[in-house]
Amino acid sequence: MGRVNGKVAIVTGAASNPGLGHATAMALGREGATVIVTDIDLAGAEECAKAIRDAGGDAAALRQDVTSEDGWKQVIAYAQSTHGRLDVLVNNAGIAILKPIDELSLSDWNRQIEVNLTSVFLGCKYAAPAMRAAGGGSIVNLSSVAGLVGLQTCAAYGAAKGGVRIMSKVLAAELGKDNIRCNSVHPGFIWTNMQAGAQTGGREAAEASTAGLPLGRVGEPDDIANCILYLASDEANYITGAEFTVDAGMTAV
Ligand code: NAD
Repeated sequence: MGRVNGKVAIVTGAASNPGLGHATAMALGREGATVIVTDIDLAGAEECAKAIRDAGGDAAALRQDVTSEDGWKQVIAYAQSTHGRLDVLVNNAGIAILKPIDELSLSDWNRQIEVNLTSVFLGCKYAAPAMRAAGGGSIVNLSSVAGLVGLQTCAAYGAAKGGVRIMSKVLAAELGKDNIRCNSVHPGFIWTNMQAGAQTGGREAAEASTAGLPLGRVGEPDDIANCILYLASDEANYITGAEFTVDAGMTAV
């Protein structure tokens, strides 16, 4: 019996491999959920869904731009019409526009907020009625350590992720009566395509820059996927409005 057996889950931004959405979709699929894998990159989403099916799970891929309100309506309607319900939403899709404020343009700012914050608002807004109809659900929003503390070059990224953090608590307050839980996850330094793109020195430099953390290593996508899997499952059914730092102790010291 899988830990999320019979649940219908949407994971956004699940094409990137290695990526947090991909690892999360694989974990949910392995533990018995039907996974709707979405991404702006349809080919990558299809590869992820195929990997879930090849491992014995159930998954389908959809192209979705998380900044589109119509796109969200279609994805939620797909879950309800094809699978009859929606139990889990993982708002994972994101981008990182990391620049000091003197170089950060208004369009950089607007794009960052749109992809990392407005998208989460839309996802939660349209998932809530579907989860209500299913008798409850679990929303997991990807924030960041940059949504907890001030990191250089993160004026826009951190503002978006800080917004995700507090919006998750507001929705926990509003939706608890409907048995809908909403929590945020705050990854530290996890080796994904996003980090590989941001690090000039590659994996070696990443290892060096994390050596001083309490756990002294770079994170792997499964380190985050395991936390999200827990929050998605009924094991976490008394947890809402909480923030889970999964950062090797980065923000604890
Ligand atoms: P990634 O770049 O490897 O994957 C992100 C995915 O999102 C990609 O598949 C991309 O195609 C998709 N995407 C981007 N814009 C989209 C859009 N408009 N619509 C739909 N899909 C879109 O990134 P990752 O490292 O796996 O990060 C996943 C999430 O975790 C992000 O929200 C990120 O901010 C957050 N995060 C990551 C780290 C880390 O260390 N990797 C740390 C903190 C937070």
